[in-house]
Amino acid sequence: MYSNVDKLNLATLTETAARQDVTTAMETFYRQLDREIAEYNPICHNRGLCCDFERWGHRLYVTTLEIAYFLDSLKTFPAINADRCPFAIDGRCTARPRRPMGCRIFYCDPTAAHWQGPLTETYLARLRKLHTDLKVPYLYVDWMAVLRRMTITSAT
Ligand code: SF4
Repeated sequence: MYSNVDKLNLATLTETAARQDVTTAMETFYRQLDREIAEYNPICHNRGLCCDFERWGHRLYVTTLEIAYFLDSLKTFPAINADRCPFAIDGRCTARPRRPMGCRIFYCDPTAAHWQGPLTETYLARLRKLHTDLKVPYLYVDWMAVLRRMTITSAT
């Protein structure tokens, strides 16, 4: 499978993660997104199974700003032993405050089917604009590929 994870510049990512304007913009972005999602009142039925990507049969893609904002909260990277997000523990997301956009929007709740796609498109467009406004290079990368790369990098 083609992956553009090698295009992530780790030095730039670290600098971006430390920027206060990036933190503020992403806090605002997620606050607005969470508010919109809450209006739909979706229900989580699967208790974290969707974070096991191989088992669930889907992928999670993230942008540079989402990665930077997530990284800013981390001190160490957990080991990755499978195609499953290492932050999913006992059916819970242990990185919930800074989890990426797709983690917030995806629900297997059938009543969520009609709004997830349009909401993703709307907020992805906002994210693209944020990258431009904040002068951060835009990439759209597989989440597990990002975590694997970060784990290897932090261990060297
Ligand atoms: S960050 Fe949280 S919600 Fe997103 S895949 Fe990982 S455990 Fe699941």
